[in-house]
Amino acid sequence: MSMPILLLNAGSSSIKYQVIDAEDESVLATGLIERIGEPVSAIKHKTQGETFTADEPYPDHTAALRALVAMFDAHGPRLANVKAVGHRTVHGGSRFDRTVRIDDDVIQALVDLSPLAPLHNPPGIAGIRAAQEALPNVPHFAIFDTAFFAHLPAEAYTYAIDKATAERLSIRRYGFHGTSHNFVSQRMAHFLGRHRTDLNMIVCHLGNGASVSAIKNGIPIETSMGLTPLQGLVMGTRSGDIDPGIVAYLHRSGMEVAEIDALLNKKSGMLGLCGKNDFRDIAAAVEAGDADAKLAFDVYIHRLVFYIGGYMALLGGVDAIAFTAGVGENDQGVRAAVCERLAGLGFHLDPERNALRTGRAHIISTDDSPVTICVVPTNEELQMAREVNEAMGGQPIED
Ligand code: ADP
Repeated sequence: MSMPILLLNAGSSSIKYQVIDAEDESVLATGLIERIGEPVSAIKHKTQGETFTADEPYPDHTAALRALVAMFDAHGPRLANVKAVGHRTVHGGSRFDRTVRIDDDVIQALVDLSPLAPLHNPPGIAGIRAAQEALPNVPHFAIFDTAFFAHLPAEAYTYAIDKATAERLSIRRYGFHGTSHNFVSQRMAHFLGRHRTDLNMIVCHLGNGASVSAIKNGIPIETSMGLTPLQGLVMGTRSGDIDPGIVAYLHRSGMEVAEIDALLNKKSGMLGLCGKNDFRDIAAAVEAGDADAKLAFDVYIHRLVFYIGGYMALLGGVDAIAFTAGVGENDQGVRAAVCERLAGLGFHLDPERNALRTGRAHIISTDDSPVTICVVPTNEELQMAREVNEAMGGQPIED
């Protein structure tokens, strides 16, 4: 029996979607609604090899969902066949450690968690409400970015700040990109012919946002993002780790909290250092002798190597490492620079394998490399579909 599931990823001004049949894992449709709330919005809908577009104003998520329903009605697949809707949800706090069916209590919990993720949870809730209105007759599920990391060891998730304050405000490390880290670690184990429970793994999810995780025998023991997705690695526009004293210093120097938030989230990272956040542009600038781009690249690699080395120590050695997401899957220069610095710790990269672009999981280390280095394309939507299917009583699917 087919099991089509609609997967929604709602941001403040966009909604990405896919329909995946959880039975055979085929993709029945993909699409993107952009510029919600602006004078002209746009929807792009792909199904059966054809692309359909429309543009008119969608003032809010409800209007955008109506446009989505109209696209499906006009071009298929039939939404009436969809068995469930899965919503990517950024912050599940310490309450949600798995995919759950959405009811009023879950919505209230997401509202309560919004102060922890002010940029992400409110649009997510708007997307859920609009989708429930548009598709009232199927169950809706929330898939949390934080869930995979919900059981990090206490010594990993605890910040060394005043305990009472931390408890009152739920300040701890939560970790994000969990759906991707979960999927990639499963896929890597499968593809290596091993089971996750027998491996020490490091997963580097390097996209515009970036995070790294240490997974011991299938259980995550560390990850680089924290209370918010700002901590950790240098990212496209986010600073990653900085001295927390910088925040107070900026404030005392006259910046408002919202400005500091915008500076660290949107104007920092690679963009802040060299004016570019797309790694294709950065590689071209480095090639052309741009000193800012070179320093930005070096800082990015330095921080990543620092994390990987630390995670090797925490794991007590690593069997395999995966590079995934936009940069990790596509940028051989980043992978080469990281592995070159880690050669002394057993990272022996094969340059020819590293240069191959297969679009599938493949090994890029030499046959005798102590650490197996892999490129593993992530697929967050597929992982979401699997989790919704399982939450509906389907068999758990591992690769
Ligand atoms: P996110 O989901 O966080 O928005 P992605 O995982 O899609 O990000 O990654 C987007 C980033 O991947 C781009 O900003 C760019 O830096 C990088 N990227 C995409 N394609 C390539 C490529 N061919 N070579 C190098 N970097 C690439």
